[in-house]
Amino acid sequence: QLQNVGVVGLTVMGKNLALNIESRGYNVSVFNRTYERTEKFLENEAKGKNFVGNEKIEDFVASLEKPRAILLMVKAGKPTDATIDTLLPHLDEGDILIDGGNTFYKDTIERNEKMKERGIHFIGTGVSGGEEGALNGPSIMAGGSKEAYEHVEPLLKAISAKVNEEPCAAYTGPDGSGHYVKMVHNGIEYSDMQLISEVYFILKNVLKMSGEELHEVFAEWNKGELDSYLIEITADIFKKEDDVNKGTLLVDNILDTAGQKGTGKWASQSALDLGVPQSIITESVYARFISALKDERVKASKELNGPEAEEFQGSKEELLEQLRQALYFSKICSYAQGFAQMGKASEEYNWNLDYGNIAMIFRGGCIIRAQFLQKIKEAYDREPKLDNLLLDSYFKNIANDYHKSLRKVIALAIEQGIAVPALSSALAYYDSYRSERLPANLLQAQRDYFGAHTYQRLDKEGTFHTEWQEITQKTDQ
Ligand code: NDP
Repeated sequence: QLQNVGVVGLTVMGKNLALNIESRGYNVSVFNRTYERTEKFLENEAKGKNFVGNEKIEDFVASLEKPRAILLMVKAGKPTDATIDTLLPHLDEGDILIDGGNTFYKDTIERNEKMKERGIHFIGTGVSGGEEGALNGPSIMAGGSKEAYEHVEPLLKAISAKVNEEPCAAYTGPDGSGHYVKMVHNGIEYSDMQLISEVYFILKNVLKMSGEELHEVFAEWNKGELDSYLIEITADIFKKEDDVNKGTLLVDNILDTAGQKGTGKWASQSALDLGVPQSIITESVYARFISALKDERVKASKELNGPEAEEFQGSKEELLEQLRQALYFSKICSYAQGFAQMGKASEEYNWNLDYGNIAMIFRGGCIIRAQFLQKIKEAYDREPKLDNLLLDSYFKNIANDYHKSLRKVIALAIEQGIAVPALSSALAYYDSYRSERLPANLLQAQRDYFGAHTYQRLDKEGTFHTEWQEITQKTDQ
């Protein structure tokens, strides 16, 4: 009997996705470069289930019904190329390769082209949700051949997360679009986490909140506009006592140096390439970099002064509400940047991304899942060609009200010497975006002065250049 689906790569993600696929009624054939991993899988998690394991790649390919649908869950980069190279000689025209790894979108664009030449359908899909999502239902952002997507759509929808019974899996557009959307998703995940962490630090250092109080604040926030997976797990984190230092919180004993796998950085790099502002994600990446300078920071903390920490004199209730509003509003700014970035990429690569649909697939399975994604969907339903989320009626109302709280919170943090790079860049973005005039007129004058780069005028059409030195010489005389 031929198997319905093939999975290559049986570490954390591949193994759990394979189990997920099998649990939806599919027969699954599996392959892993190192056969021991396959054997272990068959002896343990896969025991008694509809799996076939293969030691040789040719047997793996031969075990699949045609057109073959093969999900690759291997290390991104060269290992993915190496895996494709071993598969290719055994594949037939019309077979479908689905790369579910965290692949850089430009690699997906290239592979898509190469596979097209060989008559193989290629789908590059973002899979979000980590180990738990892979097993129970991830968010799936698939880009590539539309025809091939339609063939595997029932499978991808079956294994994906569901919100109100709607699957969190969708076709995003051609070639690298799925991996691009996943990359921006990961960047947004960085900024969501950083914004929450900055607010936590104010609660802890200004309001001197205990773990129990922090838990209560986040649990309460999770019932309203901020309702999301990251707020929920943050509330949980403040309840976890340390097993080593009894009577203390685990989070207080964790080294304040953040790791990263680089996908947040990719989002920033792409924003720079496209010429779109992506300051909040970028500051969040920098915040992780500076956290990694632990030894230097310890030294500097003894050498460099900040303001004297003053006891907070204001109303605690008022500050809590300001923090809640500041967090929600800065999160909105971050999504506004993320969706604007996807808009620019969509234009650049002709992807025709459907932003409302993207918001919908982010609602379940993935780390950034949140109630407010429904509001983004509604905003794009109201105006599919919306320039910026901040201009939608719902988000505009929030912005016009909550910006005041964000200002108060940032001012307080500055007074207390607490770094809030992501919150501050959210406000700087907002204030720049809503400004009819920016000081770029002076930049243009400077550029024209030293480099004759020319400038345009507010009051008439055309390109102008001024001999600035003559003017200054005259005024000097
Ligand atoms: P890894 O990224 O650690 O990848 C391990 C797999 O890649 C193994 O099957 C390994 O085979 C194979 N592999 C490594 N090098 C090569 C090579 N040179 N040639 C052929 N195969 C190779 O595993 P994960 O399960 O963590 O992730 C799988 C993919 O999913 C990655 O692209 C990852 O970025 C992505 N992803 C991971 C998430 C997570 O939370 N972990 C979330 C979403 C996506 P062998 O056993 O022989 O070494």
